[in-house]
Amino acid sequence: RAKTQEHNSYKFFDEAMHAQSLNRLNLEIDLRKSLEQEAFTIYYQPIFELTNHRLIGFEALVRWQHPTRGLIFPNNFISVTEETGMIVLLDRWIFYKACQQMAEWKHKFANCFPLKISINLSAKDLSKPDLIQAIDSTLAKTGLDGDSIILEITENILIEDIDQTIDLLAQLASRHIQISIDDFGTGYSSLSYLHKLPVHTLKIDRTFVEKIQTENCQYKVVSTILALSKQLGLTVVAEGIETARQLQQLQQLGCQFGQGYLFSHPLAATDIEATFLQGD
Ligand code: C2E
Ligand code: MG
Ligand code: MG
Ligand code: MG
Repeated sequence: RAKTQEHNSYKFFDEAMHAQSLNRLNLEIDLRKSLEQEAFTIYYQPIFELTNHRLIGFEALVRWQHPTRGLIFPNNFISVTEETGMIVLLDRWIFYKACQQMAEWKHKFANCFPLKISINLSAKDLSKPDLIQAIDSTLAKTGLDGDSIILEITENILIEDIDQTIDLLAQLASRHIQISIDDFGTGYSSLSYLHKLPVHTLKIDRTFVEKIQTENCQYKVVSTILALSKQLGLTVVAEGIETARQLQQLQQLGCQFGQGYLFSHPLAATDIEATFLQGD
């Protein structure tokens, strides 16, 4: 009896594994098709100066327009695109589209500018030798200046190949493109690198903002990041601000910028225009 049960559980395990890899394979096939068909869209989340609610820019966040499953959020597909290398094509498409949108808004809503667009890059993007070439080509085609662009990278890639990273960030800096460290505090940051690199902004991860009111350790992490950034002359953006109390606490700690559902969810471009941009 024990034997058959064991046998069955292996069989079950095997089938579950099989189903999982099939799912994964289908997901990959779907993603490849969607990339060819450009079946993605970008949502924009406004970023504000906290003291006066002045709009300073947007973060571009990708959504997958799946033919049958509807709008899919990045946490459900970004990792697969990273494992397969598809992320590089996807991110370049997003970079182009977001720059194009920004250039259009700059023209249409000139009185709302200067505004900056923050675009997420994966570690895979940064290791491609033709990244700068791709960026230059997009800048030329869309007419957007580098000083309208912030690239969000995670701190882990800073320590992967430090010399190559320094070189790359210097090339971006010479185009006036700013660098922001995303999800700061969740990865392996090395403070010595941070101070050597041309980084402009730290983004405090949502997990630290979440319980800033109730958890003493989260409060301490946020206040430490703010103290550090002051020392290093860096700007700070808090992400995931959902309540007025979180906002108040962040302001008391001297955090200058932020984004979150309290202000606005990420929105489709037409909704951004209707809600946050006005013509002359
Ligand atoms: P992220 O770059 O840290 O982006 C912030 C995430 O927090 C977004 O999730 C945003 O919708 C969400 N968020 C903003 N305010 C709030 C809030 O008040 N409460 C809560 N609960 N969440 C909030 P989203 O759009 O699902 O993206 C998840 C992650 O996927 C991003 O985290 C980023 O790492 C990645 N991602 C998104 N778009 C791209 C992209 O174009 N390229 C790459 N490589 N990664 C991307
Ligand atoms: Mg980001
Ligand atoms: Mg982030
Ligand atoms: Mg995050």
